[in-house]
Amino acid sequence: MAFSDLTGQKNIKMRLAAAVSERQSGTFMFTGPLGSGRHSFAEEFAKALMCENPGQDGACGKCPCCTYFDAGTTPDIVRVYQPSDSKNIKVSYIKENVVPEAVLRPQFSKSKVFIIDCDYLGTESQNALLKSLEEPPAHVVFILLSSNRDMVLDTVISRATEIKLEPYTREEILSILKRNVPDCPEQTAQIASANCAGIPGKAIEIAKQGEDIDLKRMVAEMLIELPDATYTRILYDHAEFMGEHKADAVTVASDILLLIDDLMRLKGMPGYKKINYEDFRTKLEKLAASPRVDAVKLGHCATAVKDYLRALEVNSNFDAASCAMLLKIHEELKK
Ligand SMILES: [Zn+2]
Repeated sequence: MAFSDLTGQKNIKMRLAAAVSERQSGTFMFTGPLGSGRHSFAEEFAKALMCENPGQDGACGKCPCCTYFDAGTTPDIVRVYQPSDSKNIKVSYIKENVVPEAVLRPQFSKSKVFIIDCDYLGTESQNALLKSLEEPPAHVVFILLSSNRDMVLDTVISRATEIKLEPYTREEILSILKRNVPDCPEQTAQIASANCAGIPGKAIEIAKQGEDIDLKRMVAEMLIELPDATYTRILYDHAEFMGEHKADAVTVASDILLLIDDLMRLKGMPGYKKINYEDFRTKLEKLAASPRVDAVKLGHCATAVKDYLRALEVNSNFDAASCAMLLKIHEELKK
């Protein structure tokens, strides 16, 4: 990775490259909303600061410092991120792991870098940091992150060079989506990029939700078609669909169970008010109303799905297990 691997923020990349080439020490603070890329830029900046031969594009990627960085084994970076319980970072943690470390020289790298997410620093912890931020030794760089500048003490802000992430353009968001959600349909990507306020993290979230919705719809369409499908259709198209979504096999199976559940409800009580697949109500009602569908057969279908889930757990042949489930549901509900 280098600066050019990160999308957008041209001005910031130039500023970071200048800071690296001048071997600046001190405190930088990346500000911007959640999902704006603060962490990615901070990591890339840190790598460049620690690199033996950095250039305009940041870290060289080849020197021992870069190798250690990429392997996650460099002792010269301290990351203070969100604690596992999501509450604030304890002041004792700052006093024990940051303050004394900041006076030690780096072991391998050109700089010693601290990346600290200020979103999880209370007032007391920020105060504990102040002294280190005030007189950092020449080899130390603090990179602070904040999604909410108002929560950072003025005394901290005044000691930092602020780097504010700008909203990304539509094209930049689309290119980030291509990399992070490669299976995202074009239409979903367009919707996500138009509704994310220029924040990549938000676009990715929308695109992933869209993916789930698309998958849910496809599973519903498959199940509704299954009773009347030909063997060729089942063993080629439907089995292929299962294979394409192998990574989401458990989700697909759970969705099928929810659909069977809807058919059960609609069979037992036509017009049942609250079903899982409201969008498919008409089609599900039609199928449930058919005399060939009854509670016993639906029970067998649910068992077939549960057998399938068990087969996945013990790593049975995936294709064989998918076909067995699809054929069983077909046999139960066919004319
Ligand atoms: Zn390097």
